Amino acid sequence: MIEHVVEGVQWIQGKDSFLPDSHVYVIGKSGSSDFTLVDCGLMDMGSYKLEQLESAGISPNQVKRIIMTHTHLDHIGCLPELLRGLPDAEVWVHEDEASYLEAGDARIIFGNSMFESMVKSQYAIPQDCFRIKVQRKLVGEEMLDLGGIAFKVIHLPGHSAGGIGLFSLEHKLLISGDTIYADGAIGRYDLFSANPSELKRSLELVAGLGIDILLPCHNRIVKGGAEPMINKTVVDWSGFLGN
Ligand SMILES: [Zn+2]
Ligand SMILES: [Zn+2]
Repeated sequence: MIEHVVEGVQWIQGKDSFLPDSHVYVIGKSGSSDFTLVDCGLMDMGSYKLEQLESAGISPNQVKRIIMTHTHLDHIGCLPELLRGLPDAEVWVHEDEASYLEAGDARIIFGNSMFESMVKSQYAIPQDCFRIKVQRKLVGEEMLDLGGIAFKVIHLPGHSAGGIGLFSLEHKLLISGDTIYADGAIGRYDLFSANPSELKRSLELVAGLGIDILLPCHNRIVKGGAEPMINKTVVDWSGFLGN
C-alpha cells in the first residue's frame, strides 16, 4: 500500500526478504504532474512499486526524477528496473557517490567484497548494470522545488560518503536515508566509504534541525514528535563514534 504522510509526501514500504529492501518516498502534490521518487529498493523490487504508483494515480511519465539518499544495493538495486518503467525520470545523486556510479565502480553499492560475492551468488547481476548516468549531482544545501514542496538537500556523510537527507522546513520532516532510524538505531559505519566521526557530525546536524516527522528508509516511520527520540539516539551513540 502507498501511504499518505503529509500533503505531497507518500510512503511505499519496502518488502524485506533475506536482504532488506529500502522504502520509497513519493514527493509531489497531486495535480502537479511532477513527481519525485526517493530511493528505489533491492533488485526485483521495482514492479510492485510501479504498480503502487499507478494505483495512486501517478502515471509513469509524471515521475521526473529519482533522488538517491545514497547508493547502497538495498536502495539502488532496482534503479535500472524503475528507469525502464519511468521514461522521463532523471537520476540525482550526491556528487561524492555520482562519480562512482558514472565510473561503474560498485564498491559503495556493495559495501564490502564478502557481501558482493554473497549477492552475486544469489542474483544474476549483469556486468556494468550499475554504471549509471547521473543527470544532476547534488552537493548539499541546495533548495529543491519538488512538485510544489520545498526540500533542502543536507549532506550527511558517515554511513556512506555521499549520503543525503531531504529536509522540509514547512513540515519539519526529514527523509533520513540510512543515517538515523526510529527507535534508537543508526546506520552502520563499517562499509566502504563509511566514517564514524563523520556519522557523528551528521547525526548532530540532524539533531539540530528540530525534526517532527522522521522518514527513514528502513523499518518504521515516525509521523510526529520525533525530536526527543532523535536527540536521545544521537546522545546514546556519540560515545561509540569517535570525535
Ligand atoms: Zn545504506
Ligand atoms: Zn539501507
